[in-house]
Amino acid sequence: MSQPAQSYADFYRHSIEQPDAFWAEQAGLIDWFSAPQRVCNWDNPPFAQWFEGGKLNLCHNALDRHLKQRAQQSALIAVSTETGSERVYSFEQLHAEVQRMAAVLLALGVVKGDRVLIYMPMIAEAAFAMLACARIGAIHCVVFGGFASGSLASRIEDAEPKLIVSADGGSRGGKAIAYKPLLDEAIRLSSHQPQAVLLADRGLATMDLVPGRDHLWAQLREQHLNTPVACESMDSTDISYTIYTSGTTGKPKGVQRDTGGYAVALAASMKHIFDGRAGETYFSTSDIGWVVGHSYIIYGPLIAGMATIMYEGLPTQGLDGQPNGAIWWQLVEKYKVTAMFSAPTAVRVLKKQDPALLKKHDLSSLRALFLAGEPLDEPTARWISEGLQVPIIDNYWQTESGWPILTLANAVEPKEPRFGSPGIAMYGYKVKLLHEATGEELTEPNQKGVVCIEGPTPPGFMQTVWRDDARYLKTYWQSVPGKMVYSTFDWGIRDADGYFFILGRTDDVINVAGHRLGTREIEESISGHPMVAEVAVVGVADQLKGQVAMAFAVLKDASLAGDAQASMKLEGEIMKRVDGDLGAVARPARVRFVTVLPKTRSGKLLRRAIQAVCEGRDPGDLTTLDDASSLEQIRQRLAS
Ligand code: ATP
Ligand code: MG
Repeated sequence: MSQPAQSYADFYRHSIEQPDAFWAEQAGLIDWFSAPQRVCNWDNPPFAQWFEGGKLNLCHNALDRHLKQRAQQSALIAVSTETGSERVYSFEQLHAEVQRMAAVLLALGVVKGDRVLIYMPMIAEAAFAMLACARIGAIHCVVFGGFASGSLASRIEDAEPKLIVSADGGSRGGKAIAYKPLLDEAIRLSSHQPQAVLLADRGLATMDLVPGRDHLWAQLREQHLNTPVACESMDSTDISYTIYTSGTTGKPKGVQRDTGGYAVALAASMKHIFDGRAGETYFSTSDIGWVVGHSYIIYGPLIAGMATIMYEGLPTQGLDGQPNGAIWWQLVEKYKVTAMFSAPTAVRVLKKQDPALLKKHDLSSLRALFLAGEPLDEPTARWISEGLQVPIIDNYWQTESGWPILTLANAVEPKEPRFGSPGIAMYGYKVKLLHEATGEELTEPNQKGVVCIEGPTPPGFMQTVWRDDARYLKTYWQSVPGKMVYSTFDWGIRDADGYFFILGRTDDVINVAGHRLGTREIEESISGHPMVAEVAVVGVADQLKGQVAMAFAVLKDASLAGDAQASMKLEGEIMKRVDGDLGAVARPARVRFVTVLPKTRSGKLLRRAIQAVCEGRDPGDLTTLDDASSLEQIRQRLAS
């Protein structure tokens, strides 16, 4: 890497002190049909409007503008180890497919501003659908393909889509999952009815088509093979999409995103943070159902002129359907991936594989691995860092922000990552630590506070909650006393050099006999035990102490979970460990061993559900729960 033209500190300061000049310059990274008249309108806080007067199109920026220079280069690489397929689309081919999809959407009556709900597995058609929506100015609402009817129904209800794009089925671990019956049931449950349903048929499951409503993509595509569809000229502040948060802490919130701010934020982050260069390949292992999939599988890499890999399948299965713990590294080698993006939860899965698998492949193209979504624990970071021999860059953000809030902008100035820290405040973000009760700003190093963002929020940040400005205000901007600031609802500290450490979510604090304890700190102590693979700690109501901590751990040797004697011995060891690390007050009242923990479909611990079960309450919204048997195990272990 060449010598940085400036220090990151200067770069950051410029973004905060001269935001208009800074972002006007970043706006030059994308194509505008008409230039913006005003960089940031903050007249009506907290509703920031970016690049007013500007006209553009996301799909144009992702595809059309690259045709002159790189029509024949790869744009989309769709790999499925579930069906053993691998399809590569050049920019020209992807452009053609997206136009066909756009023509079909138009033919089915979709117009600018209409919502199109996308309930799809990780196949190329899902990318066509998203980009086609952007092309014609329809608002897409992608719902994770693994969700069941109930979760899907509530999202149909909220988004009121004119059209739904789906498929006959998905597949997980070689087992086909029929989507169509789930979709039909969801539509039946919903009071809103879509006008039309467009279906990709992969030959995985049979479909009963509803006459007049359901259409097959393959058939309509044939009719529109050569129908050109121009890019709609969108206002910068027009809505590009809505997406729901993971639902880790409660009912998912419909995050609404603009067009111009988002395009600029992504182009800037691809350049400064991910160091993604046109003509190279990007590989994010996320899913289009999550925000990472929107920003860094579809839009970000394509806007940057990169090829992007869309991967359907487990990280432990090969294209021949056989177990293969090195499939990701094979893809890195084959497509010369330069930047890879994944989540700690996925790396923990790979960690159980033979470490030699990593060394068998030529990974010399790779410059960095980015991880996000949950705290990156030190053992996991160390394992993957030693295996790959490239910087492991943790990045902290939320569905709400659309791109990293905390990380390292190594393409501006390379900095050493610090174990346990996702990094420093990114340009454009005025990140503050505030005292939870008084709202006072904590400016000394290593003080613990709520991570907040002072407005105006930067480009790419959510505009509001879909159709609910009041909820946006109340949920996010009115939680800190006496101040209108955006709360992330995460605890953090900042060291003397500006590195942040995320200590868990604000609702993960428990109160034992007047002592406030973070469940995450107790979890860290417990996961230090050599036999523990994973652990969840929750606070449970207690008559005497107010609350007590309860721990549920997964052991590396799962067979021990059912062994009463071994469990008792381990429980004692773990309690002693916590006593030593944090003091007896933090000691869990009980440590129970399970084989799987309740997580969201995106791999995050569902502490609120565990807590509810421990307190004998209704666990509430479980639509995002991955494995229902996990809560059942908790129930059983409590009874034993
Ligand atoms: P909901 O808001 O519906 O409860 P969620 O917060 O899990 O769900 P997301 O937007 O997917 O939904 O996740 C963002 C949250 O994930 C952050 O607020 C933080 O708690 C956690 N997180 C993300 N990245 C990191 C990271 N690098 N380190 C620590 N925590 C992270
Ligand atoms: Mg959240």
